[in-house]
Parts: sequence; C-alpha cells; structure tokens
Amino acid sequence: MQTLAALLDEVRGCHLCDDLPLGPKPILQAARGAKILIAGQAPGAKTHDSGRPFDDVSGDRLRHWLGVDRASFYNPGHFAILPMGFCFPGTIIRQGRRQGDKPPRAECAVAWRERLLSHLPNIELTLVLGTYALDWHLPQHRGLTVEATDWQTHWPRLLVLPHPSPRNGLWLKRHPEFEADIIPRLQQRISALLSVN
Ligand code: SF4
Repeated sequence: MQTLAALLDEVRGCHLCDDLPLGPKPILQAARGAKILIAGQAPGAKTHDSGRPFDDVSGDRLRHWLGVDRASFYNPGHFAILPMGFCFPGTIIRQGRRQGDKPPRAECAVAWRERLLSHLPNIELTLVLGTYALDWHLPQHRGLTVEATDWQTHWPRLLVLPHPSPRNGLWLKRHPEFEADIIPRLQQRISALLSVN
C-alpha cells in the first residue's frame, strides 16, 4: 500500500487543473498521527505565496479560535490541514473590483480527498470550515448557520465553523454565542487531544 508520504508527494506534483491563474501549487499538511482535521476551502493568494496553509489573517483568527500557537498549528502530527481545493483558485473580479476568491476546484476533492483521509486513522475531531467543506463532510446538512450554532449535534466528533475570513465579521456579530460559548469548548477539547499526543 502507498505510504502517506508518497501520496503527499503525488499530490504536490498534481497538475490536474491546467488553468489556474497562478498555476498549480498544492498547499496542505498531514501526518498519520494527526488527531484533528481542518477541512477548509482553498488557499488565498497570500497563502499561495508563502506555501503554508492559513498563513494569513484568516489563519490568525483560526489559531485564536483553536487556542494554539503557530508551532502547534503547523505540526502535521497535531493538525491535518486539507482544504477542499489545494491550489489557489483565483479571484472573482466584477466591474473591475475584487469580490473574493473563486470556489475551490471541484476536481481536487474527487481526485484526492478519500485517498488522503484513508491515511488518517487517528482523527478524532474534524473542523468543517465554510460551506464547501460542509457540503462534502455533512452532505445532509441544515445550512452553515444551523450546523454551527446547533453545535452539539455532531460533537465531539465534528464541529462546523464559519470560515475565519474577515469577510465573516458580520456573521460573528450576529452570533455572539459562537465565540462566547462554542469556542471555549473547542479550545478545551483541542487542549485535551493534544496533551495526550
Ligand atoms: S487544485 Fe487540486 S486537483 Fe487542481 S491542480 Fe491543485 S492539487 Fe491538483
């Protein structure tokens, strides 16, 4: 059977999408011992440049939510980080103005997701960030807001989070219970999972 290291090498050499604006550059991390899976969307332009997942303001907010520093976050034995698309998909421009990033490339999950997850037998908590990951990980979902606020439904195996992008500031303002009640529970669980690593 192929090792995870060999599979990651194969993913990092992927050129399946030949029309990406900045070309293929898969950005992900994983190790067999990881207990927490972060299922995100796709790298942004800044992350594309740095080559590290969530190396941007969204990542700063996410690390704050998780209660971990950068060293722990970028330890693949702690966190497997598998966005729905591994390469920067480009930006949406309307009337000359940037409207945000394009959706993750659908080819990516089809080609790689099941194969990668089959190499991660120790995942005990999956963090589902945003609607694209929600569609894949909870296909019968009730919408992001319901799943994120009615958080105990899938707890402690899975937690749905809004994407930590600054664009979601309004959602966070409308749902103050998310940061007041849910995030402290999340931080406790992550601390417990990582303390027995
Ligand atoms: S987005 Fe995924 S499928 Fe497309 S080139 Fe990148 S790694 Fe390959």
